[in-house]
Amino acid sequence: MRLDDYDAILCDLDGCLISGTTVLPGAKDVLDAAGERLVILSNNSTDTPETLSCRLQAMELRVPPERIVLAGTAALDHLVAFPDARICLYGSEVLRDYAQELGLTLTRAAPTHVVLTRDETYGYAQLRETLGLIASGAQLVVANPDVSHPGPDGTPVPETGSLLSAILSVHPELPYVIIGKPEPGLYRNALTRFKDGVGRVLAIGDNPRTDAEGAARLGFDFALVGPDTGIWRGLERFLRERAG
Ligand SMILES: [Mg+2]
Repeated sequence: MRLDDYDAILCDLDGCLISGTTVLPGAKDVLDAAGERLVILSNNSTDTPETLSCRLQAMELRVPPERIVLAGTAALDHLVAFPDARICLYGSEVLRDYAQELGLTLTRAAPTHVVLTRDETYGYAQLRETLGLIASGAQLVVANPDVSHPGPDGTPVPETGSLLSAILSVHPELPYVIIGKPEPGLYRNALTRFKDGVGRVLAIGDNPRTDAEGAARLGFDFALVGPDTGIWRGLERFLRERAG
């Protein structure tokens, strides 16, 4: 198997291409080799495709916003389909601006939906508020189930899933909707970026529980890469094993 055999390459971000503001080994090689066949598919819920594209550009990684699909903005895109949605958003300033650009109504008074993303200010008061809003009938929409992702020095960075865990510790049976990986919606969203359709799809990621699980559900080939190998060497190993 060669990289050229794939029509679409859906690549995770954190732990694969970058870690914080650090470019990981092999990231540039993969972007160069994959070219326009590569779409970044990430459970990131603090950026928009535009802000992430700019951050990557500053690290000399060139990926246009059209080839970036993120769980946080996808969660908000999802709610555009509900015309009377009133949304309590726990999230970054960037995501709040994005919600307003979409014309969504943001409110903390009697919302229909509570949207949970990686809100770095989420604490006891917000947890208590969330429980009250849910008790009043708001539906919980969660950007991603990831509990953490590795920081630049290997220390785990808490993710949206850790905030979800706090809510579920009080309400273990609470129904909620997950937008990001491993749910198939985000993958299908990424495939719409290929105007001529796609045949063979390769997903690349470093998280077995989200990246690998999501790819498996859709029957895509999947290359697990990690900090031990770097993405390019991990990918080469995967292709060699597939060929072997
Ligand atoms: Mg990752």
